[in-house]
Amino acid sequence: MSAQRQGRVVVVGGSVAGLLTARAIAPYAESVVVLERDRLPDSPAPRGRVPQGRHLHLLLSAGLDRLRDWFPGIEAELESRGAVRVDGTGAWIHQGGAYRARGDWGRPALSQTRPLLEHVVRSRVAALPGVTVERGVTVTGVTRSGRRVTGVVADGRERPADLVVDCSGRSSRIAHDLAQSHVLEPPVTHVGIDIGYTSFTMRRAADDFEGQFLVCSDNPGSFRGGAVLPVEDDRWQVTLAGVHGDVPPATDDGIADFAASLPTPAVAQLIERCERRLRRRHLPVPVEPAAALRETTRPSPRARDPRGRVEQLRPHLRAGDDVVCAAGSRPG
Ligand SMILES: Cc1cc2nc3c(=O)[nH]c(=O)nc-3n(C[C@H](O)[C@H](O)[C@H](O)COP(=O)(O)OP(=O)(O)OC[C@H]3O[C@@H](n4cnc5c(N)ncnc54)[C@H](O)[C@@H]3O)c2cc1C
Repeated sequence: MSAQRQGRVVVVGGSVAGLLTARAIAPYAESVVVLERDRLPDSPAPRGRVPQGRHLHLLLSAGLDRLRDWFPGIEAELESRGAVRVDGTGAWIHQGGAYRARGDWGRPALSQTRPLLEHVVRSRVAALPGVTVERGVTVTGVTRSGRRVTGVVADGRERPADLVVDCSGRSSRIAHDLAQSHVLEPPVTHVGIDIGYTSFTMRRAADDFEGQFLVCSDNPGSFRGGAVLPVEDDRWQVTLAGVHGDVPPATDDGIADFAASLPTPAVAQLIERCERRLRRRHLPVPVEPAAALRETTRPSPRARDPRGRVEQLRPHLRAGDDVVCAAGSRPG
């Protein structure tokens, strides 16, 4: 063990933020334990505790660069599992009432489902020396000695730690516990955005669409949008979105009507072509599991802390990603 490696770290939450936090800390810590309440699937699959995982997620090139540095060969691994490189040459982006010009972005992005990305990152992190990912473990709060955080309580058991990193997402129990016990009550700002999504996947064929991917958003007079991206297993992932209660329906007919109402017909045409192909082969029409999600609020990360409590807790407790700032969601 290297002389620099010191201390036991507990990371709460084994989703994207928790896994990447574990990777960042691993070279410096004696041990890193990631505690995840879900009984994580052994293969890439959406999971109930991360409902946004069913919706469209694109890995932009800066994120890909970081993953490449941390996990050598991960790009090739993702591609071998069906991830698709996309760039501006094949982009159909309908914005401001017209299609944007196409051109080489220089750096491609990688398109795959969020579950595949998380699955591959998780297997890489679990293989790191000194890192353990424990599944099906629920953290209910932190243990403290005075104002110092000394560990967590997980499934009723104390787990000591020199550093706790809370990556348990938008509904952090640690934050709730600290607020309930009046230890740390950062004010939260809610910004109503009221956007609703419906997402699904469809089988992809080479002649479905001459572009690589399709985005329709920010069009004058329309508060509806849609995006279609190629993902693993020869599928298109489609996400439709509307605002102020205009949540896209999650039924075949409702999806077709909503897509047809977008400022460009291309999304509806693509869905129709996929459906037609299925009908020709006498296969059921058309969507794999649809999922709807409605975002309503966004907490602000700028918490005022007049008594300096954050500073006292900070050396042993940190928070990451959606714990700090998230698009709050409830089923649509
Ligand atoms: C519709 C939609 C589309 C999005 N698209 C993109 C995109 O294209 N690109 C992008 O970068 N981001 C996107 N985001 C945002 C992204 O999904 C989130 O920012 C990201 O998932 C946050 O990751 P996280 O690890 O902080 O939290 P989460 O992914 O929510 O994970 C929290 C984890 O903690 C676990 N957990 C919770 N409580 C406990 C507990 N008490 N004990 C143990 N474990 C616990 C949960 O089971 C879960 O695994 C999108 C979000 C939405 C809603």
